[in-house]
Amino acid sequence: MTKSEMELHQAEYRQLLSQARSARKQGMYREAVASALLSCAHIDGMIQFQRKYGQAEVTTIESLDLVLALAPLLFDFQSLDKVEVLLKEQRRIERNSSVDWNASLSAARAVLIAACHLWDLLSKQPDSLPDDIRGTIGIDRKHWKALIEAWETMGLLSQVTQGDSVRLSLATEMNRPTRAKCPSCGTVAKAAKAKFLEDVVCPRCNARVVFVLLLPEHGYN
Ligand SMILES: [Zn+2]
Repeated sequence: MTKSEMELHQAEYRQLLSQARSARKQGMYREAVASALLSCAHIDGMIQFQRKYGQAEVTTIESLDLVLALAPLLFDFQSLDKVEVLLKEQRRIERNSSVDWNASLSAARAVLIAACHLWDLLSKQPDSLPDDIRGTIGIDRKHWKALIEAWETMGLLSQVTQGDSVRLSLATEMNRPTRAKCPSCGTVAKAAKAKFLEDVVCPRCNARVVFVLLLPEHGYN
């Protein structure tokens, strides 16, 4: 790889990572994971550039961190599979980083299983699930917090304080009409929130997409 090719990879990596960061900040987790995954194609070139010409050693890789942190909260096992393939094909990533990425990937898969477990419990007791069930689904405090916060931001559940305890509530939210936007053509549709959780065919542009939920602070009720 020539210097200018490496430089290009580094620039692409940074650009996509910054898109991923900003999507995450806006609570657009799927978009964040998608941009972070796209940036993964440039990690190898970025590492080579950093090693040869950069001032700082590559210690961690933020885009991988981002995928491993967010994909489990979205039940997005495909993105975790893509990370596994990447780690197998591009050994330089493990070699040139102080992070044990395979261990991080296993941890992310464990969070995804816990998320499925929690979702299952919530569907059985949608109105009010005590939040002390954390212990029974096998997830640590840090990941639990990330999961609940992300789902709250996505409008999938709400936390209700009752006396000394916190309860999680799901169903009414899921059935409430919600507005969401097609990421391909930008058309806005309204339907029960549950409908927007998986990919659908956009009625306007016919693309198979996952609609982006519009958050209340973006101006609607
Ligand atoms: Zn569309």
